[in-house]
Amino acid sequence: MSEPRRVLVTGGNRGIGAAIATAFAQAGDHVVITSRTGDGPDGVQAVPCDVTSAEQVDAAFTQAEELLGGPIEVVVANAGITHDTLLMRMSDDDFSSVLDTNLTGAFRCARRASKGMLKLKRGRIIFISSVVGLYGAPGQANYAASKAGLVGLARSITRELGKRGITANVVAPGFIDTDMTRALPDKQQAEYLAAIPAGRFAEPEEVARVVRFLASDDAAYISGAVVPVDGGLGMGH
Ligand code: NDP
Repeated sequence: MSEPRRVLVTGGNRGIGAAIATAFAQAGDHVVITSRTGDGPDGVQAVPCDVTSAEQVDAAFTQAEELLGGPIEVVVANAGITHDTLLMRMSDDDFSSVLDTNLTGAFRCARRASKGMLKLKRGRIIFISSVVGLYGAPGQANYAASKAGLVGLARSITRELGKRGITANVVAPGFIDTDMTRALPDKQQAEYLAAIPAGRFAEPEEVARVVRFLASDDAAYISGAVVPVDGGLGMGH
C-alpha cells in the first residue's frame, strides 16, 4: 500500500465532492474538504472556502496544510455550478459567474496547490469537468465553456510542471445522480437517459473511483488526459 497522502477536495460537503473525499478517506489518505455551507462527510474535516475568492482559496489551503501537517499532495477541483439558459437570454452575469466558479475557481486552486507540490516535487491535480465540456448542450453555453476550459488548463499545467513530478488531469462525468441533476426537468432527464449507451445514470462513487485512480502511483504516467465517466454518452470526443 502506498503512503497516505494529504488531499484537498473543493465542494466536498455534498454530491460528487463528498463521494470523492469519502473514497480517499476510506483508502487511508488524510483528507480535508472545502465547503461554503455544511460539514464534510463522516470523518473528514472541512474548511470554509468560496472558490470565487483568491483570498479564501489561499486561506483554505493554509488551514488544510496546518490540519494535515504539510503541503497538499492531491487537489481535486470539484466545486461547480450551473446557470442554464438559452444563449440569446444569457446575461453577462450568467456567463461570468459560471466561469468564475468552474474555471477560474479551479485555476485558483491549482495555482495555490502548485506552490507546495513544486517544493515536494510531486503532486496530482484533478479537475472535475463534464461530458458537456466537449459535447456541448443547449442552454449550457456558459457551463460548457467553463468545463472545456479545464482541458486547456490541465494540458498547460502538464506541459509546465510535468518534469516536476506533477500530473494534471480532467475527469469528465456524464449524468451522475446528485442535487445538480435532480434539479433538471423530467423531460431532460429522460432525453439524457435515452442517449446514454449504458442505459442508466451513475452514482457519485463511480466518479470517485476514477479520481482516486488518477491520484494513485499507478497513474504516474497519465497527464493532460480527459477521462470520461459517462456510460459512453460522449464517445467521439
Ligand atoms: P452539487 O450541486 O451537488 O454540488 C456542487 C458543490 O460545489 C457543492 O459542494 C457546492 O457548495 C460547491 N460550490 C458551488 N459553488 C461554489 C463556490 N463558489 N465555492 C465553493 N464551492 C462551491 O453538484 P455535483 O456534486 O453534481 O457536481 C460536482 C462537480 O461535478 C461540479 O463541478 C459539476 O459541474 C460536475 N459534474 C456533475 C455532473 C452531474 O451529473 N452531477 C456531471 C458532470 C460534471 P454548496 O453546498 O455550498 O453550494
